[in-house]
Amino acid sequence: MRIITLECPDCGTVVAANELEDNRIMKCPGTGCESVLRFDDLSEDDRSFYLDNKEQYRL
Ligand SMILES: [Zn+2]
Repeated sequence: MRIITLECPDCGTVVAANELEDNRIMKCPGTGCESVLRFDDLSEDDRSFYLDNKEQYRL
């Protein structure tokens, strides 16, 4: 399975695509980091792959 993650541009915390997709917009979970991460920040390729293979990420 392909791992799809987004790395916070400010602190480098890695967030999994399924967390982003649940929330669409979420505050970075990094300690003390106020960045906002969006599902839309993933590359188009990653987003479409994720949406096409969503079931795999729900296990
Ligand atoms: Zn961060």
